[in-house]
Amino acid sequence: MVITHNLGYPRIGSHRELKKANESYWAGKITHAQWLETGQRIRRGNWLTQQQAGISLIPCNDFSFYDQTLDWSLTVNAIPERFRLLAEKPDTNETDLYFAMARGFQKDGLDLIAMEMTKWFDANYHYIVPEFSRDQAFSLRSEKVFTEFDEAKTVLGTVPKPVLLGPVTYLLLGKEKESGFHRLDLLDRLLPVYEQVLNRLQTQGVEWIQFDEPGLVLNSDEQQRAAYATAYRFLRDRFPKLKFLLASYFECFGENLTLATQLPVDALHIDLVRCPSQLDDILKTAFIDSKTALSLGVVDGRNIWINNLNRSLELIQKATDALGRDRVLVAPSCSLLHAPVDLDSETEVSGLTPEIKQWLAFAKQKLAEVVKLATIAAQPDSEQAKSWLAENEAVLTARRQSTLINRPDVQARVNQLTDSDTHRQAAFENRQPLQHERLQLPLFPTTTIGSFPQTDAVRVNRAKFKKGEKTLAQYEDFIRQETEKAIRWQEEIGLDVLVHGEFERNDMVEYFGELLDGFAFSQNGWVQSYGSRCVKPPIIYGDVYRPEAMTVRWTEYAQSLTKKPVKGMLTGPVTILQWSFVRDDQPRRDTCTQIALAIRDEVVDLEQAGIQVIQIDEPAIREGLPLRRENWETYLEWAVKAFRVSASGVRNETQIHTHMCYSEFNDIIQQIADMDADVITIETSRSQMELLDAFVQFNYPNEIGPGVYDIHSPRVPTKAEMVALLNKAADVLPVRNLWVNPDCGLKTRRWPETEQALKNMVQAAQTARSLV
Ligand code: GLN
Ligand code: ZN
Repeated sequence: MVITHNLGYPRIGSHRELKKANESYWAGKITHAQWLETGQRIRRGNWLTQQQAGISLIPCNDFSFYDQTLDWSLTVNAIPERFRLLAEKPDTNETDLYFAMARGFQKDGLDLIAMEMTKWFDANYHYIVPEFSRDQAFSLRSEKVFTEFDEAKTVLGTVPKPVLLGPVTYLLLGKEKESGFHRLDLLDRLLPVYEQVLNRLQTQGVEWIQFDEPGLVLNSDEQQRAAYATAYRFLRDRFPKLKFLLASYFECFGENLTLATQLPVDALHIDLVRCPSQLDDILKTAFIDSKTALSLGVVDGRNIWINNLNRSLELIQKATDALGRDRVLVAPSCSLLHAPVDLDSETEVSGLTPEIKQWLAFAKQKLAEVVKLATIAAQPDSEQAKSWLAENEAVLTARRQSTLINRPDVQARVNQLTDSDTHRQAAFENRQPLQHERLQLPLFPTTTIGSFPQTDAVRVNRAKFKKGEKTLAQYEDFIRQETEKAIRWQEEIGLDVLVHGEFERNDMVEYFGELLDGFAFSQNGWVQSYGSRCVKPPIIYGDVYRPEAMTVRWTEYAQSLTKKPVKGMLTGPVTILQWSFVRDDQPRRDTCTQIALAIRDEVVDLEQAGIQVIQIDEPAIREGLPLRRENWETYLEWAVKAFRVSASGVRNETQIHTHMCYSEFNDIIQQIADMDADVITIETSRSQMELLDAFVQFNYPNEIGPGVYDIHSPRVPTKAEMVALLNKAADVLPVRNLWVNPDCGLKTRRWPETEQALKNMVQAAQTARSLV
């Protein structure tokens, strides 16, 4: 029988136990021992779940209290200089240090900035970025991998497979903190630590070791390719008997294919969900005559749909035909970290209906699918195999034909889209004077990005309404009061374009998902986003349709309170797509176009209701970029088009804004310009307007609001610093195109600092005007 294995299991617990334990520990509500115990309980539960599912090779060291990359930085003692002082204090324990690196530290006269966090490849998971210096040294520091190996071995009674972040990907994920070297130059210093780790594990009785090297799917140069070859040659020579499994996922190997198939390892894991053609490609190489086994990632670790068993079996069959059964392993496509934990905890019908539920598999269910596949592959003619296949086929057919999924009117509308649907009536240079004429705004007009503080009162009211402790009328009354207060206050401090405050929204994607057909919501489908933060992405299961207006009522109400223009607030199609689990039975672009049409209808309805300025937020456009460059163009083309579909149904006088958070715009500035929003607001204050350079060099023609203060911190910016930033912007961009606004929405802030900061901002705009 082919061997089954798993690359990693979610560590948040089926009811977010990890998050709760971390937060309680930080708040001093549980002891260090209780906190450690929660980790142990989660690990133990995970191992037993995998064993009971019948997985043969079970991972360990995939657990982390915060982030596995941070764990690895501690393991190899890559502690940034600024944390040394803390690390060396006698009363600092490893846990204090760990969380200081993850979250920053302000105590005992120390003020240490947290390490940076960034997206893990194209997933919604964020890791802590390793920091390297020119004279970076590495040494073995943490015992984590050894302790967890022993722990797993005891719990399981078999030998587990430790997961190590591979040396090359680890270095690539990091950042040089000074100039004069490349982080890959550090490989020679890093490898001896891996040698030490393997030595210890060998003494503990390890057999298989999984090296995660997803860096192999990225575009690479000579130096990178040489680094992989050096690293695995080094380790192979020193450990001829250990079994190395090299895991790569999320994409095709591209130009790294030959390299990947020739590395001296015992098994190579490939992601056949993201890159099904890879199997044929590999079987055409000399790999076929080697002794290396192939691990087939056939169960999607990034999405929530049940597996198409027949399709997976075809791949398995092809591999076993070519390589023989003992050279094939079956696994999920990547670590199950990116999937929600357990569909069995979805019990309330108000969430996922039984019809939708049978189409889904979360992490635990995916383990069962892996085992089923291996079992069927071993005995395809058995009664068991036949019944599993028949059952799977029946569900898949029912899903394909379900009336829940198919809306012929929506499909027809997508097919009938014409070029004119993706263009505003006139070009920007002709729209701009019409909009200026109508809106009569001063130079340096001031506005905000949409949300105002979501206070405890707002949250409590919503929770009570959801629990049935408040009626809809009571809840809406409360929201109206908050909105009115916000409008009055914005008028008072003299903002120019007002917002209603988004008090009625829980989340910028969930709010729209709940009002659109084709979306479903789980009760417990949480996925780790970073550290203690989890998200519960909506599930897009069917054709997207807007049964009725979603925001018009609230925006119209806010506008009725004031003569100043109130900006309508919408989330854009790409962001809604990007932050949801997306159906796998049609291309992402088609789903995105359907969402775009729904948003377009909303934009038109807002205009009809008298709203003159409408913002379509697209913070996720940049993060949707495919991992490999050669796929960028196609993505950007449909993503930009979707935005344009959503924005182009209105008259020239209606001003369309868009907003994007911290993004590098350099390599996508042409496409940002192609979106043709009348105004774009971007996050720039943390980089001291550096992010504006791309717009300046490109001669970006439309209006732009570079954020003048960082909303991620409670710190109140002074008027002077904002004036300085505005002057900096005015030096390089036409003044008539400039807006004044914060970096992002204010929902995570409290009122006191928000009030002061926005007052200062309005004054800064006044000063900037007087200087023109
Ligand atoms: N309009 C949203 C808000 O202000 C935008 C949030 C975002 O960019 N992430 O909250
Ligand atoms: Zn933002």
